Amino acid sequence: MRLIDLSQPMYDGSPNCPTHPPVKSELIADHPKDGWRVELLTLANHTGSHIDAPLHKLADGISVDQFPLESFVGKAHIADLRSVCRANEPITREQLSQRLPAELKDRIVLLATGWGDKRAKTKEWLWEPPYLSNDAAKFLVEKGIRGVGIDHYSVAGIGEHNPTTHTILLGSKIWILEELRFPAEVFTLPQPLQLWCLPINLRFHSGSFTRPVIVVED
Ligand SMILES: [Zn+2]
Repeated sequence: MRLIDLSQPMYDGSPNCPTHPPVKSELIADHPKDGWRVELLTLANHTGSHIDAPLHKLADGISVDQFPLESFVGKAHIADLRSVCRANEPITREQLSQRLPAELKDRIVLLATGWGDKRAKTKEWLWEPPYLSNDAAKFLVEKGIRGVGIDHYSVAGIGEHNPTTHTILLGSKIWILEELRFPAEVFTLPQPLQLWCLPINLRFHSGSFTRPVIVVED
């Protein structure tokens, strides 16, 4: 068995959503003086590869720890949108339906935009990602999917469409997995893929860090 890591690394100053605090990692004890090393992290829980729970956008939504843990293990399909995604442009219902099987009940959909490979503090990555349109989010709800992932810090970019797209998904108890990175190998594997993305047990929190992996049985 092998694991393919879909996570983005986190470190002091790593790129993140510009409306969140910057990522800080400070040494508060170190060798040899203290005889141990400890870091103090200052970062929002929606940083790096993470899960959005309904509570993130809905006042009466469930928190990340209220999903059954099994919900984060399942069959996933990649919609390879790398050739059609453009800065500041929506991902449409048509683009999804052309790249995904018709039957998606209880499946996890992973949106590969190519922006995971652009991760840097550039205008394009910070402010101009492609985004899932409201209508494409409704398409995923109609299909009865369980979760949706994307290779950027937000499934819905940073503009005015952001709250509605999130609410359409989260209002249907579809969890959102953000800030993925897709190594080239995942595009060569037979689908569906086996995805694991267990969130950290943050009680009553709106989201949580995760280490998303694809399990490959050799
Ligand atoms: Zn988030």
